[in-house]
Amino acid sequence: PPDVAQLGRSSWTLLHSITATYPENPAPALQNETSAFLRTFGKLYPCWVCAEDFQEWMKVNTPRVSSRSEFGQWMCEAHNAVNVKLGKKEFDCGKWEERWRTGWKD
Ligand code: FAD
Repeated sequence: PPDVAQLGRSSWTLLHSITATYPENPAPALQNETSAFLRTFGKLYPCWVCAEDFQEWMKVNTPRVSSRSEFGQWMCEAHNAVNVKLGKKEFDCGKWEERWRTGWKD
């Protein structure tokens, strides 16, 4: 099986990068495709317990894909749910764009 931590880091990079390049004003068709992508991703994610929990989390926390900022915030919350589950520090979601889109303001 794949290394769960390595798979996770790569997957979060992909997922947050998708939110970073998501339109500010997505067309309704793209919003539907994005929700469908997340559902499929949740089914196919190649870590069985991870996928199961992510699907359960998404049942309660329906994907918010109406704008880049909503989607980026939602993805940060999804990642934080896993951080909490694994006993890691929560990430400040006010900073997701700095981390994944614009770069840190140092
Ligand atoms: P990661 O958590 O991979 O984070 C990478 C980088 O993202 C961090 O260095 C930080 O800069 C940034 N970051 C951290 N938190 C956030 C946030 N909230 N928003 C934006 N950016 C952030 N592992 C398990 O052992 N069990 C599981 O059940 C499990 N479920 C997972 C479910 C999904 C959908 C995914 C994608 C991964 C899952 N993982 C799971 C993997 C786990 O989340 C980590 O990727 C892995 O433990 C490696 O952690 P890391 O400390 O290297 O950093």
